[in-house]
Amino acid sequence: MKKILEELGSRDRIAICGHERPDGDCVGACMGMYLYLKKMLPEAAVDVYLEQPADIFNCIDQIGSIRTAYEACALYDVCIVIDTNADRIGVAGCCYETAAKTINIDHHISNPKGCGTVNYINPKASSASELVYELLEEEQIDEPIAMALYIGIIHDTGVFKYSNTTPHTMEIAARLIGYGFDFTKLIDETFYEKSYLQNQILGRALLESVLFMDGRCIVSGVDRKTMDFYNVEPKDLDGISSQLLTIRGVECAMFLYQTGQQEYKVSLRSSEKVDVAAVASFFGGGGHRRAAGCTMRGTYHDCINNLSLYIERQLRGAARETECV
Ligand code: AMP
Ligand code: MN
Ligand code: MN
Repeated sequence: MKKILEELGSRDRIAICGHERPDGDCVGACMGMYLYLKKMLPEAAVDVYLEQPADIFNCIDQIGSIRTAYEACALYDVCIVIDTNADRIGVAGCCYETAAKTINIDHHISNPKGCGTVNYINPKASSASELVYELLEEEQIDEPIAMALYIGIIHDTGVFKYSNTTPHTMEIAARLIGYGFDFTKLIDETFYEKSYLQNQILGRALLESVLFMDGRCIVSGVDRKTMDFYNVEPKDLDGISSQLLTIRGVECAMFLYQTGQQEYKVSLRSSEKVDVAAVASFFGGGGHRRAAGCTMRGTYHDCINNLSLYIERQLRGAARETECV
């Protein structure tokens, strides 16, 4: 794809939107793009649509400009969908439906072709923030833009630990920290630090977790009542599925939280063998090989039984393959 300014041409009403329950990559990539377009196109009307991000992202410049309410469906020349396809942009969907041109920037393996009239899709990229970086003119990047993109990269790579981290990711990160922001503080405050309540609900999820398949799988979940009791929202539950995966011997972790009457949001994590994107896609969701999610209907136990069936099948398949080698 051409650089974003070339792609936009003279179009001057631009919407940027990311996925529901935006994570660090989604917020960082959307805000990085927003700050860049505001800087480069001061005459243009640029709006960024996201659900209210977690407070940890308040360090991002102009985070208060995010439009969280979509009361009216404004008309845009271009709608840029970042870190998802158009299925998960919630009520911002009307900006996408009515825009003359749509641009999709994504790295999810479950979105191989893209949903835009122009698509910049690379499932090998660590993060959408990495892809956004590639679409900007490097000499125009400034410290706030660099910081937003760096946040996105550290969140989707688990601070350069996950297998989606490539030499290219590290090169970009190296250039970004050159802008001088305090990256140590940023990593601590946006990635590792958790509130007391977040730690309490994590503790609860760990206490109630159940191992199965000889300790190769683990599952835990919280219902609405428990979330209300601890006064936590979905965004406070980020990181629980990854924490479950750190247990020795566990190859696949499932974490479910209730989103409605007989409805659960599922987070899946895998250390290697299980392709959780395939599992989540089967249930109408998606993601990456080692981190994916979906929303399922049914009782907690129905959801777990259905998911387990597919996970066990994959693990058994993997075991058979190893036996043959
Ligand atoms: P989560 O478990 O929600 O942190 O999501 C893990 C990864 O899967 C992230 O990259 C998400 O963007 C992606 N993901 C989560 N839910 C869905 C879904 N319903 N459809 C597509 N991708 C998803
Ligand atoms: Mn995301
Ligand atoms: Mn992402």
